[in-house]
Amino acid sequence: MNALVYHGPGEKSWDSVPTPTISKPTDAIVKMLKTTICGTDLHILKGDVPEVSSGRILGHEGVGIVEETGGAVSNFKKGDHVLISCITSCGKCEYCKRQMYSHCEDGGWILGHLIDGTQAEYVLIPQADNSLYPIPAGTDEEALVMLSDILPTGFEIGVLYGAVKPGDTVAIVGAGPVGMAALLTAQFFSPGRIIMIDIDESRLGLAMKFGATEVINSAKVDPAERIKASTKDGVDVAIEAVGIPQTFDVCQRIVRPGGHVANVGVHGKSVDFQIQTLWAQNITLTTGLVNTNTTAMLLKTVESKKLKPENLITHRFTFDQFLQAYEVFSNAEKEHALKVIISNA
Ligand SMILES: [Zn+2]
Ligand SMILES: [Zn+2]
Repeated sequence: MNALVYHGPGEKSWDSVPTPTISKPTDAIVKMLKTTICGTDLHILKGDVPEVSSGRILGHEGVGIVEETGGAVSNFKKGDHVLISCITSCGKCEYCKRQMYSHCEDGGWILGHLIDGTQAEYVLIPQADNSLYPIPAGTDEEALVMLSDILPTGFEIGVLYGAVKPGDTVAIVGAGPVGMAALLTAQFFSPGRIIMIDIDESRLGLAMKFGATEVINSAKVDPAERIKASTKDGVDVAIEAVGIPQTFDVCQRIVRPGGHVANVGVHGKSVDFQIQTLWAQNITLTTGLVNTNTTAMLLKTVESKKLKPENLITHRFTFDQFLQAYEVFSNAEKEHALKVIISNA
């Protein structure tokens, strides 16, 4: 089969590699139909995730068809269409019992990280019963690719940890795919205002289409000053969806007393947390790796067309154009790219 293989920092290629085979009774082999590229894959390619070894197939998102199952898999059979979760979970360990699947003692984020991933014609899925979701007939499978990672990430770590409530003023710092996922799913709770902050005008334009009530270009104005001027004393919820010290700083400057800062961004270095001011502001600061414990619920909202994650897809490729897809996604601002779909056509 062919797969997108990481060969150390800055190096990747579309290679011919052995097709995976079942090794444990809880495994399934899935023939990939559609996958995508995540910002995390770009971090790996930069060398920011050193535990990823050379020779690893990347990717942790996608939909496919079950090709083969191990003897202990009872929820799925050959031919089933499935959504692959970016988080592998056994369903039995202490963390799984607490729905903290990202800390599963025999799983967590391993796909395209510690084991081979989904940017391939076939992928081995361990703990298949808990790590795959059946796709209801007639559902837009392309839209569901957004449910492997970015939608649950924006929803669980941004919206739910941020405790968005009806009427709230919410600011989302970063209008990339995960920030947009938070924007779409925050609307389940009818906040009064959703302020999107980014430096990319085209992404801010899209954010207005996706339900933001206002946008701030932080390359042009100081977002904290702007928000201070248009609110009584800041926002109820500040969602950090970038992962750099400057954007974290915006969040801690705009949160009102009693508010929430929900950090979603993947940080590569420490931030300067202003505890000497914030200790007395009764704020809540949350962090997290997605648990994907809301995936089944999100799937229903896509099925009912309440949530339309297909709007995040800007570019489409086929598997033989994988390197081109990476090129476009790596130059997202120039290419006006949000999420790319790569299909096994
Ligand atoms: Zn991801
Ligand atoms: Zn577990």
